[in-house]
Amino acid sequence: MSVWDVIVVGSGPAGATCAWKCAESGLKTLLIDRNATFPRYKPCGGGIPVSLQNHVSGLNPDGFLETTVTHLRHSWKGKDPVLAPMLTADDKPSEVWMVMRPKFDHYLQTRAESEGATVILGARVMQVEADTTGVNVTTDDGNVHRSRYVVGADGAKGVVGSRVGLRLNKRWGIAREAEIPYENATPENPWHPQLEKAACYLDYGTVKNGYAWIFPKLGILSVGAGMLTPKKPTPAGLNTVGITLLNAMKTQLTSAGLSTDLLGTDIKIWAHPIPYWTGNEPIVDGTCRVLLVGDAAGLVQPLFGEGIQYAVRSGAQAARHIAADTVSSYADSIKLMFGGEFDAANRVAKLFHRTPYLSYKLGVKNPAGTKLVGRLMSGDLHLEGIEQRIMDRLRPSVTTR
Ligand SMILES: Cc1cc2nc3c(=O)[nH]c(=O)nc-3n(C[C@H](O)[C@H](O)[C@H](O)COP(=O)(O)OP(=O)(O)OC[C@H]3O[C@@H](n4cnc5c(N)ncnc54)[C@H](O)[C@@H]3O)c2cc1C
Repeated sequence: MSVWDVIVVGSGPAGATCAWKCAESGLKTLLIDRNATFPRYKPCGGGIPVSLQNHVSGLNPDGFLETTVTHLRHSWKGKDPVLAPMLTADDKPSEVWMVMRPKFDHYLQTRAESEGATVILGARVMQVEADTTGVNVTTDDGNVHRSRYVVGADGAKGVVGSRVGLRLNKRWGIAREAEIPYENATPENPWHPQLEKAACYLDYGTVKNGYAWIFPKLGILSVGAGMLTPKKPTPAGLNTVGITLLNAMKTQLTSAGLSTDLLGTDIKIWAHPIPYWTGNEPIVDGTCRVLLVGDAAGLVQPLFGEGIQYAVRSGAQAARHIAADTVSSYADSIKLMFGGEFDAANRVAKLFHRTPYLSYKLGVKNPAGTKLVGRLMSGDLHLEGIEQRIMDRLRPSVTTR
């Protein structure tokens, strides 16, 4: 049996960051992922606010950046478009990184390895048994690894949490995505010739409780649509949602002046769950040996469906608590960092989705709306602090119904 200070299960942004930071602190770290090879594909828009680098030391975008966007182009059911810049408090461009997840996740995994973490690929964690002195982790190849702490970074439908009684009633939405290549993109001019430069396209109204997008990468358009729902989805419901999301992606393409043939049979259209934030739940087990991070902990902001920065930041935070042997206060620190923000996002999302068209007109289409998004992305504003302003702007849409 191999023995470690910490075993991290899952090498997405949450797990790879956690392993990187644990190894950097001198902990004997094992990172396990069920995928046999990396880089591996993960369906994701890959939009990350640049402000993430204020929270994680040593994150170097040269290792993973595709493009940087500064504008949002909004539309309603493909029509009524508006292009607006995202701006910081002092009217500078607010920037969002566009990454391809195979490259981004591999960058983080490589950082973990170069700090001394051991990486095992192609092993699926099946069993997790915690006692007061440590945890046994069993993989599908029959190996058992023991460690002082285990971090569950195994994503939206991860098993680590449920094996130790955490997050048994998970909720999740669903998102679909396709990667559409285009020619002649260069680092100097990465933009698609028919699209606005440095802009993310967002379309509302076709998907209830969600939206569709086009995110520009270097020579690739990430086209997708997602729906966040408080109900646990049924197989039949998922089927209907899948068709709705595909139609929303087509509407978004048409709105952008692109052909829906781009989603032809040679393009894979992926589907993947997105956790739905149901409020602060226990994310550390009773023995204080098992911690959850990222999607496995339900850390997705419920208004935008954004999870990468929270995955990275919770991974780094878990590493801090493990290194300091203060795991019992990890859940409280995560609650402090994100709980209020996510609860506010949930309330705003509920109001927005009750009257989406009026909310679009009064909130999104108003240039002040994109400016607020810019300030949220730049990190100089938090939803908690501006919830009332947003509610006041959107509330007339509910009362005049
Ligand atoms: C279509 C789509 C678009 C999105 N767009 C954005 C966006 O633009 N911006 C944004 O911020 N967020 C976005 N998100 C959300 C974002 O993708 C997630 O929040 C993020 O991937 C969470 O990272 P994670 O490390 O927690 O989990 P994951 O990235 O899911 O990684 C989990 C890892 O665990 C491994 N694993 C799972 N089970 C096991 C097991 N039993 N044993 C071993 N390994 C295991 C998996 O192989 C995987 O590598 C999007 C999500 C979807 C579905």
